[in-house]
Amino acid sequence: MRVSVFGATGSIGESTFDLLSRRADIQAVALTGGRNVARLAAQARALRAEIAVTAHEDCYGALKEALAGSGIEVAAGTGALIDAAARPADWVMSAIVGAAGLAPGFRALAQGATLALANKESLVTAGPLLMAEAARHGARILPVDSEHSAVFQALAGEDIAQVERVIITASGGPFREWSKARLAQATLAQAMTHPNWAMGQRITIDSASLFNKALELIETREYFGFEPSQIEAVVHPQSIIHALVGFRDGALMAHMGPPDMRHAIGYALNWPERAELPVARLDLAQIATLSFEAPDPDRFPALRLAREVMDIRGHAGAAFNAAKEIALDAFIAGQIGFLGMAELVERTVDSLLSDGGLQDPVTALETVEAMNHMARKRAQALVARMG
Ligand code: NDP
Repeated sequence: MRVSVFGATGSIGESTFDLLSRRADIQAVALTGGRNVARLAAQARALRAEIAVTAHEDCYGALKEALAGSGIEVAAGTGALIDAAARPADWVMSAIVGAAGLAPGFRALAQGATLALANKESLVTAGPLLMAEAARHGARILPVDSEHSAVFQALAGEDIAQVERVIITASGGPFREWSKARLAQATLAQAMTHPNWAMGQRITIDSASLFNKALELIETREYFGFEPSQIEAVVHPQSIIHALVGFRDGALMAHMGPPDMRHAIGYALNWPERAELPVARLDLAQIATLSFEAPDPDRFPALRLAREVMDIRGHAGAAFNAAKEIALDAFIAGQIGFLGMAELVERTVDSLLSDGGLQDPVTALETVEAMNHMARKRAQALVARMG
């Protein structure tokens, strides 16, 4: 099986590497990373990859040096990432963080590869385009986000037309019980302590603000095609149930598992088979209690904003995601407060909506990228005014 991993040096990338390392039938094609050149080179050597690619041209020399004598090709830059995605592969992991993950995943579909999609931003920004590209080339997209993998698994063998609703769960993050006044003072260090999952910095903060869940609501709509009114999010602090699918007869099928992304990654790697995976088995008696609560839209406005984005459709997802990425950068840089992130995203989307054009249907990668660019500039201008 020929396999490429985009974002190999990240949290999902490392979990993927762990699973690939355990298999003898894997031929690694392309492994890509960003600035963590030493780790990328180590992975490429361990898996004997054909090529290692860093997204940053200024990292080329360091990567070349780290792979000297290995016979592994080296390349750098965003163009090189796309070229690497064009290399024939059976299975491609899309685990770059942010909108930067869209173009390589899109290119991988054009060569008919199965795209294991962790990069939720691809579906949020360009869902209709991505799904159409997969259909056009007979390629398959398999969800890797744990909630979407859970829905996918609960739907196996079912008629999707019989689905009444889908419920994705949210841990509620470290601030689940915080008052709004306290949230206004939340620090970066506090936002980076997720109660259940070990993940990359950006998604961890997005989990604290529920922006991660907002992206996932949109992702659910784009991937499965459900109406927004059919998709719900519920806070479930134990993170044992990842999603539930409700059918017309009232049955609710829940997917449970430990908070270990190697389950969803492994499911996508082995699909349509199941294979033994090195994940902990749940001890239900020890867990004892599963609890659920409704998310609070006042303290966590991200879910409301996601619903507005789903109503607007068109390029609203691209604008929402871009504004969210700038808001996150600004929070990390200490330019805005924790609650300022939602305010910035809302103001950016509202201002682009009043310009017109946001609702135009997504028909080309270029228009998505143009909206991404415009929303970033708009959000950056607002940061300057908010700061
Ligand atoms: P990380 O931040 O841990 O890793 C991101 C990866 O992308 C790294 O390999 C990084 O390289 C690379 N990268 C960063 N910026 C760029 C860029 N501009 N161009 C190309 N490559 C880049 O992220 P995660 O692994 O946490 O998340 C990856 C994706 O998976 C996200 O879309 C996230 O939402 C999604 N996801 C993650 C989950 C998790 O448990 N972590 C769960 C479900 C979904 P380097 O580090 O070398 O600079």
